Amino acid sequence: MTSAERLQQIRERIARAAKASDRDPSEITLIAVSKTRSVADIEELISAGQRDFGESRVQEAADKWPGLRKAHPDIRLHMIGRLQSNKAAEAVALFDTIHSLDRPSLLGALAATGQPTPCFVQVNIGAEAQKGGVAISELGAFIEEVRQSSLRLKGLMALPPLGQQPGPYFALLAKLARRHDVTGLSMGMSADYETAVMLGATHVRVGSALFAD
Ligand SMILES: *Cc1c(COP(=O)(O)O)cnc(C)c1O
Repeated sequence: MTSAERLQQIRERIARAAKASDRDPSEITLIAVSKTRSVADIEELISAGQRDFGESRVQEAADKWPGLRKAHPDIRLHMIGRLQSNKAAEAVALFDTIHSLDRPSLLGALAATGQPTPCFVQVNIGAEAQKGGVAISELGAFIEEVRQSSLRLKGLMALPPLGQQPGPYFALLAKLARRHDVTGLSMGMSADYETAVMLGATHVRVGSALFAD
């Protein structure tokens, strides 16, 4: 299957999951995660109409995207990987939205740019020691800090623990978003984006299911 065919299929599945949970499919943004993929692979998806893309490294995005962006000014680029504070300014210049605002030092570095960059707060939803993200117990205070900064708070983002049913974690993230009065929910990847849509995702991040090998 070509990536254009995969894209079509994933869009249909998102629409079906949305309708099954009484949601409007237009509320859901499909982010094509293009990390490790070539410019030619990306161009195939752009030709098929895809406009939202995700990358997890600043350097890789800086190598691949300036030319593509110039040719397609309506593309929106999402930073989904761990971001070093010393690359905050470069990230703000390259990306439209940051999904991985995961700690106070990064908040400080992003706010210091003075730009109103839209950001999702990454939550350590499974309380995993090795994973980034704000602890649930610290989320309220962190969200307040984001609200008082120059950044625009778009929502919450999470990666459920590997090897466990993701549904309960998606439901928990949705509950935290309601509790803190934020609307965006960046959750769901290749294996579980339909579940995520049914539990309220506004942004799903799909990589391997989208790109033909
Ligand atoms: C790589 C990645 C994805 C996409 O994962 P797939 O399983 O390939 O769909 C989504 N989110 C983040 C944060 C990632 O690093």
